[in-house]
Amino acid sequence: MQTLNGRNESIVFFSKHLLFRNFSTFQKNNFFTSIARNNGEETGLYGFELLKSPKGFQRFVDEAIKRSSELVSYVSNLPSSMEIIRAMDEISDTVCSVVDSAELCRNTHPDREFVEEATKASMRINEYLHFLNTNHSLYNAVLKAEHNGAMQTDESQKAAHSLRVDFEKGGIHLSADKLHRVNELNIDIAHLCREFSENMITDPGFVDIFPESGIPKHIQHLLKPIYRSCTSKESHSRRKHNKERGFRITTDSKMLSSVLQWVSDDEVRKQSYIQGNSSPRANIDILDKLIAARHELGQIMGHKSFADFSIHPNLASSPEVVKSFLLELSKIVRPKADQEFNAIRDFKRKKYNQPYEGLEPWDETYLTGMMKSSAYDLESSVISSYFPLSQCLEGLNAMVQSLFGATFCSIPLAPGESWHEDVLKMALHHPEEGDLGYLYLDLHSRKGKYPGCAHFAIKGGRRISATEYQLPIVALVCNFSAPPGSSTARLNHCELETLFHEFGHALHSLLSRTDYQHFSGTRVVIDLAEIPSNLFEYYAWDYRVLKTFAKHYLTGEVIPEKLVESMKGAKKMFAATELQRQIFYALIDLTLFGEQSSPPKDTTSIVANLKTQFTSWNHVEGTHWHSRFNHLLNYGSGYYSYLYAKCFASTIWQEICEEDPLSRAAGSTLRTKFLQHGGAKDPSTLLKDLVGDHILRYQNGGIMPNLTGLCKEMELMNGPSKSEVTSSLLQRAC
Ligand SMILES: [Zn+2]
Repeated sequence: MQTLNGRNESIVFFSKHLLFRNFSTFQKNNFFTSIARNNGEETGLYGFELLKSPKGFQRFVDEAIKRSSELVSYVSNLPSSMEIIRAMDEISDTVCSVVDSAELCRNTHPDREFVEEATKASMRINEYLHFLNTNHSLYNAVLKAEHNGAMQTDESQKAAHSLRVDFEKGGIHLSADKLHRVNELNIDIAHLCREFSENMITDPGFVDIFPESGIPKHIQHLLKPIYRSCTSKESHSRRKHNKERGFRITTDSKMLSSVLQWVSDDEVRKQSYIQGNSSPRANIDILDKLIAARHELGQIMGHKSFADFSIHPNLASSPEVVKSFLLELSKIVRPKADQEFNAIRDFKRKKYNQPYEGLEPWDETYLTGMMKSSAYDLESSVISSYFPLSQCLEGLNAMVQSLFGATFCSIPLAPGESWHEDVLKMALHHPEEGDLGYLYLDLHSRKGKYPGCAHFAIKGGRRISATEYQLPIVALVCNFSAPPGSSTARLNHCELETLFHEFGHALHSLLSRTDYQHFSGTRVVIDLAEIPSNLFEYYAWDYRVLKTFAKHYLTGEVIPEKLVESMKGAKKMFAATELQRQIFYALIDLTLFGEQSSPPKDTTSIVANLKTQFTSWNHVEGTHWHSRFNHLLNYGSGYYSYLYAKCFASTIWQEICEEDPLSRAAGSTLRTKFLQHGGAKDPSTLLKDLVGDHILRYQNGGIMPNLTGLCKEMELMNGPSKSEVTSSLLQRAC
């Protein structure tokens, strides 16, 4: 999923109604015991014995179904007891081991046969998941466990409750005809989401640019050259055709942002912006259908809208609470965002000597890039020379050691365990507690690999007995452009920030010590999930942390503090504009899946109105950016979570970490009061225990973050006056 910073990432939610997320078993020598530390003997992918070959996925599924079916019969005959929940968790562990492994394999394995078998395994196991999620004997067992007072711990009581709620999200408690309709709708929704994503790949839009001089030389190699005949009268009469060279810009998001950043020709940027923001057109109809299907689903489930159904279990608890949070933040950020807008517009007027020139959306990236570089003289190759990848990993290790007293030790991969020669394996090791969990790193981009950055779970942590704990295993998949292995593998700062973000997710998983894997690490409500990752981004910006590892790859010189200050300055320059954009995105997501008018309004005018009302920028007629907003698929009504996480992380950073970010005291607080609990504790209790009651605000039965930390950080409430900001921005920029 994409974060605020535009990266793809993290927690993979396999199905909206995925009850069973991950697994294991109480039999010894079973097929699902991953070999955490291998003594060099041959094994299968991720340490699963059965995955020695692509076809192994078939048996992996067979064995998982066999084992789960045994457990299903076992659970159905149990009296109300803690054992019901333990066995349910084991079913989940068993099945999701296949789901998770197949998902990782499909996204990263270079061998087509592995990918195909993983895809088949994924389809089969998903069918089985549907059987489990609609199984009445399991549901009745969970109901019994929840209500008969047999749960002896808070975590088991919470697990019983959470399992029951998850079952009901699939409609198991409804009448037969309603359940039938829910199943139909869920199938439709899955198809519509797939179509929407496929259209983004097959129809990104394009514009043809002539002459070639419209495109700066340094990005020409990224574009496809095209030719057209140009016939002058003279040449025509002589039947001679000259060929003029131009370029075709494919307006997918990545290429569009390069064009908007680097192309000086206004007309080329304008055409690219309009084309990119109105493709794929077919997604407008698909989105209408998706909204209708989700709305019907929400209503069958007894809610007034899909947003209401979807937000109900979260911290926020209702769309009204989310909306009031977004509107409040929007109001606070507006003056500063307007100042930034005016500064960009004034810069443009001055640059082109056009005193009344307006500012268009296709100007933003180009002009803000120029303003940042003239204010701070930041050269990305200079910055990246301080961030060789190997040192960045050492820096993370030093941070983890300071904070938690644990270290990442590189351990050898057994034959058959890895999927590519770039993959590294680390154990998170504590001198007194032993290994805490395992981490695979697959950091470099390559053809056919998942294009973003993501945290994949392979196994969740789980208590097997009084003396045994199943250690968590996760993989971090990134797409750093630097080639592996050589001394040239260096990160730019955005990549470094991404690395720290993803490590935040990994630490959440690896330090988790929940009794049930159902609650392991990142398996928390959506508006809590991005807090650790956002928190660890602060570490990538703090000089006290950076100076421990950011050293010039040739000279060994520690990164100058002045350079880091400039980087921070550049980051802050248009921070309000960026925050305003994220609020706008969250409002789109919330509004489209909120209560529906009759007849439904067209989404393009809804989005245009939101843009005009809540951003400093104008809507461009004919564009419909939301037809490529793929967060609407996985996170329908959940996009606000990024902003919740940003606010919570800001408070946690200021109150626990900022004074001495590498102290053991900070680490121990984070670990014992937050990270180790995963989803096992009530999220509001977790946050209150960590920071204090003031981190939360209560409204209409829901919870929203306190905004003070973020406002202080972004100088939003007590910032300098309008004229001061505008003139200082102009001074630096011009
Ligand atoms: Zn994330």
